[in-house]
Amino acid sequence: MCGIIGAIQQRGEVAPFLHQALKRLEYRGYDSVGVTTIADGKLHMKKEKGKVEEVHRLLDLDDLPGSMGIGHTRWATHGIPSLYNSHPHFDCNSEIAVIHNGVIDNFLELREELASKGHKFDSETDTEVIPHLIEDYMKEGMDLKSALKKTTKRIEGTYAIVVMSTREPDKIVCTRDGNPLVIGYKESASYVSSDIPAFLPMTNDMILLLDGEIATLTVNDIEIEKISDDSRVERESIRISWTADQAQKGGFPHFMLKEIHEQPSAIRSTLKLRSEVIVRAAQILRDANRVFLIAMGTSGHAALAGKHMFASLAGVVGTFELASDFSDTVYGALNENDCVIAITQSGETTDTITAVKYAKQYGSKIVAITNVVGSSITRIADHTIITQAGPEIGVAATKTFIVQLTSLALIALALGELTGFKDPSVIMRKRDSLNRLPELVSEVTAKSEERARSLANIYHTKPSLLFLGRGVSIATAFEGALKLKEIAYNHAEGYSAGESKHGPIALVQDGFPVVIIAPNDETRNRIVGNIMEMKARGADILSVIEDGDSDLASISDHIFEIPKGVEPEFSTIPYVVPLQLFSYYMSLRKGYDPDKPRNLAKSVTVL
Ligand code: GLU
Repeated sequence: MCGIIGAIQQRGEVAPFLHQALKRLEYRGYDSVGVTTIADGKLHMKKEKGKVEEVHRLLDLDDLPGSMGIGHTRWATHGIPSLYNSHPHFDCNSEIAVIHNGVIDNFLELREELASKGHKFDSETDTEVIPHLIEDYMKEGMDLKSALKKTTKRIEGTYAIVVMSTREPDKIVCTRDGNPLVIGYKESASYVSSDIPAFLPMTNDMILLLDGEIATLTVNDIEIEKISDDSRVERESIRISWTADQAQKGGFPHFMLKEIHEQPSAIRSTLKLRSEVIVRAAQILRDANRVFLIAMGTSGHAALAGKHMFASLAGVVGTFELASDFSDTVYGALNENDCVIAITQSGETTDTITAVKYAKQYGSKIVAITNVVGSSITRIADHTIITQAGPEIGVAATKTFIVQLTSLALIALALGELTGFKDPSVIMRKRDSLNRLPELVSEVTAKSEERARSLANIYHTKPSLLFLGRGVSIATAFEGALKLKEIAYNHAEGYSAGESKHGPIALVQDGFPVVIIAPNDETRNRIVGNIMEMKARGADILSVIEDGDSDLASISDHIFEIPKGVEPEFSTIPYVVPLQLFSYYMSLRKGYDPDKPRNLAKSVTVL
C-alpha cells in the first residue's frame, strides 16, 4: 500500500517536489521513506526508516541534485520497516532504481535464481528482485522499457512499478497490474503517482494507466503501450476538478478534523449527483433477483446501513458480505440475475476488487460506489457512482463514509420510487429530510466538538468500550467502535444491542463504558431496556440521542444530542459525527497522531 511518486521536469531540482508529494502520499504508508534522483550520470539516494518529516529532519530530502527522480513511502509487507528494506531498490551496479507497491508472490524462487547468478541483495523485500531482473535483461542488450516488460513476464503478483536508470537518464518507465498508478502532465513536466493529490499542485491533467500497460514518461511526452502485444495506446486525458488546497490541512491541526468539518459540503456535493446516474443504479437493483452489498472496513459499515435503507425504503432485502470472504461465503452460487454493490472509497481495495472480479465470472451485475474517478473498480463495474468527498488524506475514513451513506440513501430513494414499496409522499418527505442533512450535520459538528473533547478527558483511561445500537444504528455502532480502535487504540466493540445480552454483558462491571446509539426511531423503546440492563451492572452510559429526549438523557451518564428531523433510515449520517469527533479527541488525549494510525494504511491494496 505504499505511496509512489515519480517526476521528470525540464529544469530545476525535483527533490523538494518529491518530498512534498511524499507528504501527500503518506496516508498510504509510513514505515520508511526513500528518494532517488539522477544527476551527472549518477543515481543520488536518501532513504531511512520513519515518517517523511522525521526522515527529512535527519537527511534533508530537499537536498538532492537533478530534475528527475522517484520517491516512495512504504507500508511493509516483506521485511521489517528498516533502512535496508526501504525503497528505492537498486541493481548490483547502482544504475537502476525501482519503487514498487504490491507483492511479488514468486520472489523467493526469483531471488534464488538471481543469487545463483551472482546478484547481491541488500534487503528482505520481494521488490528487490525487480532491479536485478532488469539489470540482467539490459545486459542482454534490451532498453529500459523492454527490460521492464520482460520483467513483468517473470514476476507473479500485484504491482505498480516505477523505474529509472542512469543508462537512459531522460525517462521514467512505469507499469501496473493490480495496484494503482496515475500519470499527470503539463508543459515540460510529467508525473506518475499512486494517487492524484500527489501531483495536484503541479497539474490537474491526468491520464489513466491500466493494468498490463507500460508508460514511458519524458519531459514532453507520455507514451503508453500494452505489454501483451506491444501495441500503442492512445488515451484521452482527464481534467480533475479537485484543487490542491483540498489536499492541504487548511488551518486544521489534522486532516481528520478538517475532513470531519468538510462533511456537510461533501454531502451537499454528493446530493447534486446527476439523477440519471442514481436512477440507473436503482434500475439495476430493481432488475436483480438478489442484491449483495460488499465492502471492507468503514465502507462495510456504509454497506450495512445501505442494506437497511434498501429494505425500509424500497422493500429490497439485500445481503451484506465482507468482500474478503465473499467467495468463501457464496461458494459460486451466483448468476447473471444477481447484483453486487461494491463500495470502496479508493476504488483500489484489493479485497473488494477480487470479490467483484469473482462475481463477474458468474455474470452478476456490478454497481460500484467509489470516491476516485478512473480507479480500478470503475473499469470493472457495469455502473459506477462517484461520491463527491474530494481527496481524503486522514487514514481513518470520515467524509468518504458520509458520502457513501449519502449515495446509498439516494439510490434507496430512487429504488423506492421504482418499486413503489412506500407511498410517493413518504419518499418525498424522506428526500426533503436528506436534503436538509448538510445543515444538520454542520450543527451536529459545531455542537459536539467541545463535548467530544471534554468526554475524551473522562474516557481516555478506559481501555475497553462497547458500542451498541439496533437496526440501522448497528452500522453506526460498528463505525464508532472502529474509529476508536483505529486511532485511539482502545479495545472497542460494536455490537447489536439485542445481541449484547447474549455474551458481551459479561464484560460489564462498575464504570465499564457503554456507548449507546439511540435515535428516535422504532428501536428507541427497546434500547431503553438495553441501557437499563447495562446500568444494572454498573455500566457508564454515553448516549447519542435526539435533542430533547429527556428520558434517555436521564438514564445516561453523558450524552451527545442530534437535532430532531432525521429520518430513521439516514440516522447513521448525523449520529456517527460525534463518534468521529470522540475518537479524534481520544486519540489526541492519549498522545497519538490521528492522521497516521500505526499499522494502517488508507488504501488497502494487498489481500
Ligand atoms: N512488498 C513491498 C515491500 O514490502 C511493497 C509493499 C506495499 O506495496 O505495500 O516493500
